[in-house]
Amino acid sequence: MVKKILVLGGGIGGIAVANILADKLKESADITLIDRKKYFQFPPSYPWLMIGKRKPEQVQKELTILSKKGINVINEDIISIDTSGKKVRTETSEYSGDYMVISLGAQYNIAAIPGFSDYAHHIYDLDSAIAFRDLVKNFKHGTIAIGISRLPFKCPAAPYETAFLLDDYFTKEGVRAEINIEFFTPEPLPVPSVGPDVGNRVLELLRSRNINYHPKLKLAEITDKELIFDNQETLNYDLLFAVPPHEAPKPVADAGLTDVTGWIPANGKNMETKIPGVYAIGDVASIQTPHGYVPYLSKAGVFAHAQAEVVANNIANLVLGKSQAKEWDGEGGCFMETSIGEGTFMKGEFYAQPKPRIDYHEPGKVWHMQKVVFEKYWMRHWF
Ligand SMILES: Cc1cc2nc3c(=O)[nH]c(=O)nc-3n(C[C@H](O)[C@H](O)[C@H](O)COP(=O)(O)OP(=O)(O)OC[C@H]3O[C@@H](n4cnc5c(N)ncnc54)[C@H](O)[C@@H]3O)c2cc1C
Repeated sequence: MVKKILVLGGGIGGIAVANILADKLKESADITLIDRKKYFQFPPSYPWLMIGKRKPEQVQKELTILSKKGINVINEDIISIDTSGKKVRTETSEYSGDYMVISLGAQYNIAAIPGFSDYAHHIYDLDSAIAFRDLVKNFKHGTIAIGISRLPFKCPAAPYETAFLLDDYFTKEGVRAEINIEFFTPEPLPVPSVGPDVGNRVLELLRSRNINYHPKLKLAEITDKELIFDNQETLNYDLLFAVPPHEAPKPVADAGLTDVTGWIPANGKNMETKIPGVYAIGDVASIQTPHGYVPYLSKAGVFAHAQAEVVANNIANLVLGKSQAKEWDGEGGCFMETSIGEGTFMKGEFYAQPKPRIDYHEPGKVWHMQKVVFEKYWMRHWF
């Protein structure tokens, strides 16, 4: 009997898992990928789009292209998930599988912060990134506040990258002297998941660029001119960039899959959930890192990809009756652009003991070029 595999979500984790399975299993499996979006979109390129260095069509690809590899691509909203039966319901149909990979990422709960929907902007989805790009283009003087509203959020370096790129963009536009940049965050130091040494280097970089850093501030409310934090401190702004509060997608929470973290607990070695044959990868998963600098693994595309490789390999072996199983090593690296054409690279072994082993590379053109290669790989390799 041909085995059926359901892949929920066609983002970074979902397209990798579906592609690898299609490649390994060919006619031995029936692979269905469901996403509400018609397009695969590549968020690591949004900071470039924000400063006019990418066009929307350069950072997305039609998901139906995957049909030529034998993947059934369903463009619908998933309404509910029944994990024990490995079934999902969409607006019009029901799909079932022998294996299920949940790679639905995070949804944004902007209603959690009064004023967010009226006054805050961000680059955490493509439409918002396009809208913010247009505001940036017309911003010539005043205070831009850039910050993180809630933890956890995807890509710990992205808001810092946003600040560095905007600083350089405004400098090159000849208006930086007229613009004040304020950065707020609930974190005690930048990118805490990679430890205080790297955090302090990023902090130095912020200082050297005249970006004022306000740590340990939790955003409570936004008015038309002011940010109000939990401790009653306030910050004035003219243009506001704020990472929206993240949460697990509704069908995931409704299915009772989440724990106290609000995300799906998964085995950090093979990504299996408490239900055998049901896996959670990428941003939707929560993986404890008891030896880490932070208690849970960060949300990042490189992790979603690496986990997809392990899960796809293991499902393929189960389908083919092979006993070998891979284990994920908890390793991954992340680029952070520090100016237009330059960046840093930080790489970690996050399961290492007694502490994660972290490599930090000083800003250079080479890391910018590597990020371009990373982008090209994602926009071409799977399609
Ligand atoms: C600005 C920015 C910069 C970033 N830079 C980097 C970087 O440099 N390096 C890096 O490693 N990571 C980066 N990331 C993070 C990275 O994009 C995410 O961690 C990654 O996309 C997670 O992959 P995923 O498959 O778990 O989720 P996603 O890629 O978000 O995919 C989830 C998919 O599920 C679909 N979906 C959700 N709910 C439903 C539903 N109910 N019905 C149907 N479909 C649904 C969504 O439409 C989406 O396509 C960045 C993120 C942002 C926002």
